[in-house]
Amino acid sequence: MRYSGFEVIKEGIFGQKGWRPVWRNPDPKPAYDAIIIGGGGHGLSTAYYLAKEHGLTNIAVLEKGYIGGGNVGRNTTIVRANYFLPGNSEFYSHSLRLWEGLAQDLNYNVMHSQRGLINLFHSDGQRDAFARRGNAMINQGDDAILLDCDGVRRILPYLNFDNARFPIYGGLYHPRGGTARHDAVAWGYARAADQRGVDIIQNCEVTGIDIEGGQVIGVQTTRGAIRAGKVGIVVAGRSSQVAAMAGMRLPIESHVLQAFVTEGLKPCIDHVVSFGMGHFYISQSDKGGLVFGGDIDFYSSYAARGNLPMQEHVMEAAMTLMPMIGQAKVLRSWGGIMDMTPDGSPIIDKTDTDGLFIDCGWCYGGFKAVPGSGFSFAHLMATGHHHPPAAKFRLNRFRDGAGLMDEEGTGSQHNLH
Ligand SMILES: Cc1cc2nc3c(=O)[nH]c(=O)nc-3n(C[C@H](O)[C@H](O)[C@H](O)COP(=O)(O)OP(=O)(O)OC[C@H]3O[C@@H](n4cnc5c(N)ncnc54)[C@H](O)[C@@H]3O)c2cc1C
Repeated sequence: MRYSGFEVIKEGIFGQKGWRPVWRNPDPKPAYDAIIIGGGGHGLSTAYYLAKEHGLTNIAVLEKGYIGGGNVGRNTTIVRANYFLPGNSEFYSHSLRLWEGLAQDLNYNVMHSQRGLINLFHSDGQRDAFARRGNAMINQGDDAILLDCDGVRRILPYLNFDNARFPIYGGLYHPRGGTARHDAVAWGYARAADQRGVDIIQNCEVTGIDIEGGQVIGVQTTRGAIRAGKVGIVVAGRSSQVAAMAGMRLPIESHVLQAFVTEGLKPCIDHVVSFGMGHFYISQSDKGGLVFGGDIDFYSSYAARGNLPMQEHVMEAAMTLMPMIGQAKVLRSWGGIMDMTPDGSPIIDKTDTDGLFIDCGWCYGGFKAVPGSGFSFAHLMATGHHHPPAAKFRLNRFRDGAGLMDEEGTGSQHNLH
């Protein structure tokens, strides 16, 4: 079924009986042309663009849990293209352009809302750094406006401007930044990939990668062996573990990132706001909850839940920036496992095994990358050539040190990289 206003009205009149599951539930076939390990945002978008852009439809996405159960359904949904360094800025710019047509492309409402994002700065030095970042964004063809304190006050009057420790000097405004509905992105890509013939196989964990004579020949799974001449590893926080199945040791640490949501409130925060002196960012969901988060937990872990010290740290930052938030009740907090690289930038590359590709290292910024990553990774898997906007995301930069892109991305300073 093609979704449209007409279908919604028709179903309303005829008792909502025509809706169907949005993707099939096939059993795995013995062999495919390509296998994608991981049914998160990046795995699903890769499968979709392999089918759409390269005509490869004999593909399986193997997901150990359920679609939307990983980070793609756990993030704080911020979408932006405000990167500074060559290598990152053209990639995220390309990804944002894909976001801008995504709902039409997938025929699925991903609720992409370009409500504007403001990164606050709190010192002269930070202002200068943001001015440079803004110039890089404009140079890339994206939008950036440097606001002084009064400029921020006009847009975000509820902030605590005169906090003695971190007074707000101004902000870098990125009008095309915003949010999207995270699980709708997963569902939209799953549906669109399925419609093009991709098999999405849930509850199918990959337990081994089969290699013969330096060439990948398939995978072992909890639902049996499956053959394929091309395999893409796209498993976010589990990247090190799955790559180890092919004998690889990745430059990746897995850390928990937590997020929080309050009870639903009347509209009060109509932008995405990020605090430049602590790792804190906030937006308001369409249901009214204030959605916010902070830094990763500083120890490696595969537990998708956080701890109290980081919660206290995030709440402190929230209260410093916008004391009004102290009146809201936090309803839920949760965590996801982040694949952190030493330079804060991702990897989209071939491996030393023929036919085996890897897409990982998105740190805490991979939601906004979902369309761009899938597009570029599909290009690499289908053609064997790096897609220009993602051409610098090579693994060997961690071997020889050349081409490192040391960029966290949100504007606040590095704590870990
Ligand atoms: C709290 C939080 C807030 C965040 N906020 C933002 C934000 O505001 N903006 C932003 O851009 N990014 C944000 N991120 C980061 C972003 O969510 C991730 O970088 C991105 O979702 C990772 O890619 P993915 O969607 O493919 O990952 P996932 O959804 O985690 O997909 C990976 C999948 O691989 C599967 N898998 C793992 N091992 C196997 C196996 N052996 N076999 C089969 N399947 C396997 C997993 O079950 C999982 O479904 C945030 C993350 C978190 C946790």
